[in-house]
Amino acid sequence: MSIQDVLKTMKDEDVQYVDVRFTDPRGKLQHVTLRHTEVDEDFFEDGFMFDGSSIAGWKSIDESDMKLIPDPASAYIDPFYAEKTLCVHCTVVEPDTGESYERDPRGCAQRAEAYLKSSGIGDQFFCGPEAEFFLFDDVRYSVEMNKVSYEVDALDASWNTDTEYEMGNTGHRPGVKGGYFPVNPIDDGQDIRGEMLTTMANMGMKVDKHHHEVASCQHELGLIFGTLTEQADHLQKYKYVIHNVAQAYGKSATFMPKPIAGDNGTGMHVNMSIWKDGKPLFAGDKYADLSDEALWFIGGILKHAKALNAFTNPSTNSYKRLIPGFEAPVLRAYSARNRSGCVRIPWAESPKAKRVEARFPDPSANPYLCFAALLMAGLDGIKNKIDPGSASDKDLYDLPPEELAEIPTVCASLREALEELEKDMDFLTAGDVFTKDQIAGYMDLKWEEVYAYEHTPHPVEYKLYYSC
Ligand code: GLU
Ligand code: MG
Ligand code: MG
Repeated sequence: MSIQDVLKTMKDEDVQYVDVRFTDPRGKLQHVTLRHTEVDEDFFEDGFMFDGSSIAGWKSIDESDMKLIPDPASAYIDPFYAEKTLCVHCTVVEPDTGESYERDPRGCAQRAEAYLKSSGIGDQFFCGPEAEFFLFDDVRYSVEMNKVSYEVDALDASWNTDTEYEMGNTGHRPGVKGGYFPVNPIDDGQDIRGEMLTTMANMGMKVDKHHHEVASCQHELGLIFGTLTEQADHLQKYKYVIHNVAQAYGKSATFMPKPIAGDNGTGMHVNMSIWKDGKPLFAGDKYADLSDEALWFIGGILKHAKALNAFTNPSTNSYKRLIPGFEAPVLRAYSARNRSGCVRIPWAESPKAKRVEARFPDPSANPYLCFAALLMAGLDGIKNKIDPGSASDKDLYDLPPEELAEIPTVCASLREALEELEKDMDFLTAGDVFTKDQIAGYMDLKWEEVYAYEHTPHPVEYKLYYSC
């Protein structure tokens, strides 16, 4: 939508409020609501001042003024508010120079897209994220209704997966694991997922399907691919809709990567391709019908995977998912066939659909930073013709232990990811797409999380050591 289109929509739809939205470094969508009378053509050109010091990881209190520049192309009518409200996603700029604020994730995504164009390698980067999530009965409602929820049992089961549960008549109920794909009533998420997907479609998002996932209470909705910043905006809308529809059903949604021990975690596979002059750059006549550029792109992803983890798997909980046995990747390998490596090349019906799937990211990631970092690693691979080595077409976990030990892995903790990022950030700072200051600010936030986690006694420690 152009500025004029947005202003016309506001008039036609009798919009009362405009919600100005932006994303903080940790990836959470933030908002300020303006009366519609405050919004005209100038608002889109001049932006809106706000106090940036209240956002963790941004400016200090003595230099706090910042400006939000609304992007009319991102506008949509909010589906949840009682008052008719138009929402618009913003980029943060320095008020004095009007330049992109280096720690703003959306600005970083835009810089990555500009860098791709200036590199001459391509002009469009498409990504298709597959963000899974869990839905649990909202504890507030469950307690009020004095009911023992099935989901709480599932959580409980994570402590002892051998226990059989006394749940009364269990006919038509899935076991703690095993809810993948059977029709209702075993899959009881049909209506809620349908409402989520319809809501997204009505907001102008391109969506194609929804389904239950492998773990109990786990789901996924299909977002059709788009360009980097646009798709990161869509992922923010995706999470917003899922959280709010869940809330309306008396449930809560979580994108945390591993909410239940002993069951599959929550991934966000990212499908990626680069195009140049309207042609797909990744289709070719090499392994799995890939081009040299696609193989070098994979080489860059695998080479920088450990530093990437700080952006693609940025929570302490992320590393509880990245373990063998639950369809989440651990090994830095690629293949067209098996899913045990970090990168897979999905079968594509045409050269246009040829893409590379990074399987290690999870949806605790800030989507702007996650997609931008993946692009920068892949571009480094193409620029330096990084050979990804041979593909691994066997199930890697069936390899003899000595062969398995030779395959490099992703990080095992957020601490390790931050240490790796410290050593390997030049591929990100190329062209000032990420800046050293931005990465330092981001790492400070993430170290806070590491220390909070490492310094807090864990329930498992009570179980193991309390009576030692
Ligand atoms: N839930 C799995 C993961 O943690 C992915 C399952 C799938 O292939 O969709 O990555
Ligand atoms: Mg999935
Ligand atoms: Mg996938």
